[in-house]
Amino acid sequence: MSSLAVKHNAINLGQGFPDFPMNELLIDLVYKAMKDNHNQYVHMNGLLLLRESIAEKISYLYSRPINPETEITITPGGTYAIYTALTSVLQPKDEVIVFEPAYDSYIPNIEINGAKAVRIPLSYPHYKINWDVVKENITAATRMIIINSPNNPTGNILQRNDLLHLQNIVSGTKILIMSDEVYEHVVFDGQQHESILKYPDLFSRSFISFSFGKVYNCTGWKIGYCIAPDYLMKEFRKVHQFNCFSCHSPVQFALANFLKEKIVYLELASFLQKKRDFLYNLMKSTKFNALPSNGSYFQLYNYSAISNEKENDFAIRLTKQAGVATIPLSSFYKSPNDDKVLRFCFAKNESTLSEAVERLINLN
Ligand code: PMP
Repeated sequence: MSSLAVKHNAINLGQGFPDFPMNELLIDLVYKAMKDNHNQYVHMNGLLLLRESIAEKISYLYSRPINPETEITITPGGTYAIYTALTSVLQPKDEVIVFEPAYDSYIPNIEINGAKAVRIPLSYPHYKINWDVVKENITAATRMIIINSPNNPTGNILQRNDLLHLQNIVSGTKILIMSDEVYEHVVFDGQQHESILKYPDLFSRSFISFSFGKVYNCTGWKIGYCIAPDYLMKEFRKVHQFNCFSCHSPVQFALANFLKEKIVYLELASFLQKKRDFLYNLMKSTKFNALPSNGSYFQLYNYSAISNEKENDFAIRLTKQAGVATIPLSSFYKSPNDDKVLRFCFAKNESTLSEAVERLINLN
């Protein structure tokens, strides 16, 4: 959709990246790190100073002590952390439970390891997990369950109750969890992010992926980290060592200091909530119907009051004719799905959002 958006000069509300500038101080810190000659490989597990800052942050946010030496690895982004975690533990014929709609890397990452994705579809309009259905899908081959909260693409968040259900299901089994928490700071309306880190029994069997790109509005930097208990992190590092080895060093020096500015990540939710609300209020003058968004960069909108076209066809027409690119929700499912729903990214300047809606008002 992004290529189509460029070709047709469309406003890109499809791909999840901010179009507003990132924090200048962080840019200055990277420049300073380069000038200070921090330009050579750092430790393969990541700069220790940065891992220590992350451990401090985790303790502050989730009251969990994390060992920076053995339980954190810096990665080139969250997607890499997910791939590496899966590759370090999955064997052919293992089963991995994944909820659809799903972030697009999960299923290929399962299948490239010869494992089988057991897809549990979540239904329109709430996309909530039915834990009884999860229980029914557990077999002797179930090796892992992947969760993602706040969720891309639905904007849902998991509640405490969900994590307790999950805990109950995996208790006494060897099932591992991959918890994708790249939007940990983007939870709206005063709600709390329920990190796996708050649940010791779950943490003891989990890999958790994080992305600095999402926290500091610099998705192109591709830097993040994985947290896991040491016995899992040992396996993770066996794959990491011969794949990436060491990530961009000046950025790590900069982030080690910048992470101490708590206010920056603590204010992200209210900053993005204003954008969600700005788009939502403007969209009331169109025939699109909003589904709730509790977090992430995204809100889903239903277009059945405008057209009966298939999601893919409608999204292509919207890009070509109206000049607004979005993502059809069906692209997050492997099975055929057509609820007449598109994903809009609101992590954009207000001027971008208002121009996009201007183009949608007279659509029919
Ligand atoms: N998980 C989810 C759910 C995402 O939406 C994204 C980014 N689109 C990532 C992981 C990956 O983040 P990164 O760019 O750091 O690889």
